[in-house]
Amino acid sequence: MFNLVIFGPPGAGKGTQSAKIIEKYNLAHISTGDMFRMHITQETELGKKVKELLAEGILVPDSITINMLEEEVNANPDVSGFIFDGFPRTVAQAEALDEFLKTKNEKIDLVLQLDVNEDEIKKRIAERQKVSGRADDDASKLIKRIDEYFQKTVHVLPYYQEQGKLVKIEGIGEIETIFSNITAEIDQYI
Ligand code: ADP
Repeated sequence: MFNLVIFGPPGAGKGTQSAKIIEKYNLAHISTGDMFRMHITQETELGKKVKELLAEGILVPDSITINMLEEEVNANPDVSGFIFDGFPRTVAQAEALDEFLKTKNEKIDLVLQLDVNEDEIKKRIAERQKVSGRADDDASKLIKRIDEYFQKTVHVLPYYQEQGKLVKIEGIGEIETIFSNITAEIDQYI
């Protein structure tokens, strides 16, 4: 198995690049953000619990997020690997993921950090809101999401850096250029 984490601030292009990666390498894509939005649309119990948090750009509690993720991994026993998008977002999530994968004799192989500065993120999300209509793409909510990223999520980077798994990818440029830089890294493993 090959397991990849795609990491970066809101609007870094994780979804865009993940879609291209799964197409090329046939990995299962797990996006916790997409999963939460699906629960909200379907008005499940979980959806009701997290709706307000997502709308405000606040991170969902670790225990809820970790349980949901583990269930999704368990529901895909026959895949050749996973791409984790939007997870882990806290060090506790990263530790839980390692522990969980260990029970399956698996591990995270590579963490790709899409590097995009704050000005560019704000520009991109303002554009995206025109088409997505996502409540959390609203300018005031975006500030909260960026704040959550710099308060909690960036601490995941040294965690993977210490494990020697972190590779930084320039996230500004042509989608295809960024993708070819990504494939150059993945191809060293697959
Ligand atoms: P982004 O555009 O920031 O990459 P996502 O679609 O990944 O957004 O996530 C949207 C929202 O879902 C987050 O702001 C947060 O409320 C919630 N969420 C997603 N993943 C996680 C996670 N791993 N831990 C906690 N909350 C999460």
